[in-house]
Amino acid sequence: MQGKVVVVTGGTSGIGEIAAEKLAEQGARIVLVARDKTRGEAVLARLRKLAPGAAHGVYYADLSSLADMKRVANEIAAAEPRIDVLVNNAGAMFNTRHVTGDGFELTFALNHLAYFVVTLGLLDSLKAAGNARIVSTASTGHKMAKLDFDDLQSLKSYSPMQSYGRSKLYNILFTRELARRLAGTGVTANCLHPGFVASRFGDQSGGILQSMFGVAKLFAIPPEKGAETIVYLASSPDVAGISGKYFYRRRPAAPSKQAQDDAAAQRLWDETGKLTGVVAPA
Ligand code: NAD
Repeated sequence: MQGKVVVVTGGTSGIGEIAAEKLAEQGARIVLVARDKTRGEAVLARLRKLAPGAAHGVYYADLSSLADMKRVANEIAAAEPRIDVLVNNAGAMFNTRHVTGDGFELTFALNHLAYFVVTLGLLDSLKAAGNARIVSTASTGHKMAKLDFDDLQSLKSYSPMQSYGRSKLYNILFTRELARRLAGTGVTANCLHPGFVASRFGDQSGGILQSMFGVAKLFAIPPEKGAETIVYLASSPDVAGISGKYFYRRRPAAPSKQAQDDAAAQRLWDETGKLTGVVAPA
């Protein structure tokens, strides 16, 4: 990873933070996308101490805001004409249904739209790097989801698990369609389930969900373990040229049947393009 440029969203906590550290230790220059300034500066300082050989940086954005997604992607693309790895990882689950300022259900905006908008905003820089990699954190939670194109944002009925599961199903379908569109460019796209991780995940979910996570996380794996598949997909020669796959514990795994539906992947791509106004390559 010596000299490679790695952009990490959600890189100031949990598995994103550990992945950023591990990749920096391998020689990469890390570009963090963070929401919170105090956390962003703290992680940046740690990266600089851990791997002082590279000019690591941080950009700030609320990735549930469409304007912020677009702005931060534009800023990074302008500053980084070549990006070797993009790790789409910022995500959360919410106890009750929230609507963003753009009118999107919050989980949908943060967990799905941001992956789409940031990736497409950085695509020219990724293509310019040659054999770049796009790594997206999905979840086994996608298996709980029921895909419904008439209710992509869980308006009919909201449950945190259903909405979160759907967003993670969208991550896999997005990766599938992205890989298909990028075939022949040298850029690969894969996604992963990190395991059940004792990160800050759930700490801001609110309500009963937050308390449930607090207890459940006593039995979860540490972020160091959860980050392993991200680091593997971002850096290992084993996966050079492999694209469109879903990984768990550094191995390809079979996602749900719905997650393997190419027609659904194309339809989701089109719908997401319309909702975000982002023009995607054919
Ligand atoms: P975490 O809460 O420790 O980290 C989440 C990161 O996302 C943080 O850096 C946070 O600042 C960022 N984030 C949240 N909302 C944001 C916003 N509006 N704008 C910008 N950044 C925002 O949790 P984690 O477990 O490290 O989660 C990372 C990814 O792993 C998520 O996509 C999550 O869905 C996925 N995941 C986690 C688990 C688990 O058990 N923890 C399991 C499967 C998948």
